[in-house]
Amino acid sequence: MFVDTAKIRIRAGKGGDGAVSFHREKYVAAGGPDGGDGGRGGNVLFQADSNVNTLADFRYKKRYFAGDGAPGTGKRCSGKKGEDLLVRVPPGTLVKEESTGRILADLSDSEPQILARGGSGGWGNAHFATPTRQIPRFSKPGLAGEEFVVTLELKLLADVGLAGFPNVGKSTLLSRVSDAKPKIANYHFTTLTPMLGVVRVGEGSSFVMADIPGLIEGAAEGVGLGHEFLRHIERCRLIVHMIDVSGCEGRDPIEDFQTINRELAGYGDILSTLPQIVAANKCDIASEEDIRRLRDYVSGEGCAFHEISAATGQGLKELTGAVWQALSTLPPVRRYEPEPAPAVVRDVRAFEVRRGDGAYFVDAPWLTQVLGSVNMDDYESLQYFQRVLRESGIIDRLVEMGVQDGDTVCVEDWQFEYVS
Ligand code: GDP
Ligand code: MG
Repeated sequence: MFVDTAKIRIRAGKGGDGAVSFHREKYVAAGGPDGGDGGRGGNVLFQADSNVNTLADFRYKKRYFAGDGAPGTGKRCSGKKGEDLLVRVPPGTLVKEESTGRILADLSDSEPQILARGGSGGWGNAHFATPTRQIPRFSKPGLAGEEFVVTLELKLLADVGLAGFPNVGKSTLLSRVSDAKPKIANYHFTTLTPMLGVVRVGEGSSFVMADIPGLIEGAAEGVGLGHEFLRHIERCRLIVHMIDVSGCEGRDPIEDFQTINRELAGYGDILSTLPQIVAANKCDIASEEDIRRLRDYVSGEGCAFHEISAATGQGLKELTGAVWQALSTLPPVRRYEPEPAPAVVRDVRAFEVRRGDGAYFVDAPWLTQVLGSVNMDDYESLQYFQRVLRESGIIDRLVEMGVQDGDTVCVEDWQFEYVS
């Protein structure tokens, strides 16, 4: 089965914790702090790989976690960085955040993209030595890595999409004009997976044509494969609308034309506004009268019209030439831009308190500014700072977390001892 959607969880590595350690050496009395920093957590990267054709693997494996950073150790040794995880997907895969639906990446070229960043490692105690605090007995914990539940959606990269009822000859056409080897058979739904073929129109000039599974009336109501597969021509620049002009299956070619166009419109503006070239196929067994009727109708609708026979080869050079000509005037294959995370409306005084090895760490970006304006040697200034800590709820949180008299509290790169 062709799998073109999937849902997986990706998680970058956690940063390693900083170390608490002191220099020890014979005959050296008081060695300084030498605890190293934790290593960064590994990133989760995605890369488009043309050897991967479907998202089938993601049906079975659902979790993609990068490696955690190692903790720091003594002698100022930093922990090892966590291992990156590279996830390979078919070219044209869109990655969206499940919860918001926003696009994280469009894997259209082979450039690897970081989709979840590893957390940074915590500082070891060597980092916290100051002239007044020579024996810092604490270190900072590493940060968690980014984590997302994402949906993967394959939207093929093709210049031209072939649209038409089953059995009109789409696969035959693709096999005649391109390097693709699709299955051809005289029954409906032969094509169950989209098929890409490169059509060469001359020295160094080529375009990619996609044959997608049958579009059939009532697709919207769940008959046939229909809409689900229409996403594969969403990126196309042009549609070759193929019609069996011979009516050999008992349908009316003009009605076919209208039906398919209704289906395209039902999918949305993206497909209904794409330029179309109509290929009237099976001209080898069609009557002059049938061809003339369809040509008049299609021309009246303002579409280019080509008489072809995919079986005998009649008109195929002219058709591919016309497609090439039209493509030269059209915008390139559609790429989707990543969408920024919605701005989180944060409490202006939001903070987070984490417990490290031997100390409490307050993360509160807004406090940095307050700290900058506080003179710690000045009694009133210090009182002001304490008031800010109390009013913002930081003190309450510390107490909740079990802070004791004499424990170290670090706010950004400033530290104090807790006194209740
Ligand atoms: P698809 O379902 O649109 O991909 O159609 P296929 O390419 O599988 O063709 C369906 C049937 O129509 C096959 O039996 C083909 O041999 C036949 N066919 C395709 N093109 C032509 C044509 O130009 N003339 C005739 N007579 N038969 C054709
Ligand atoms: Mg087919």
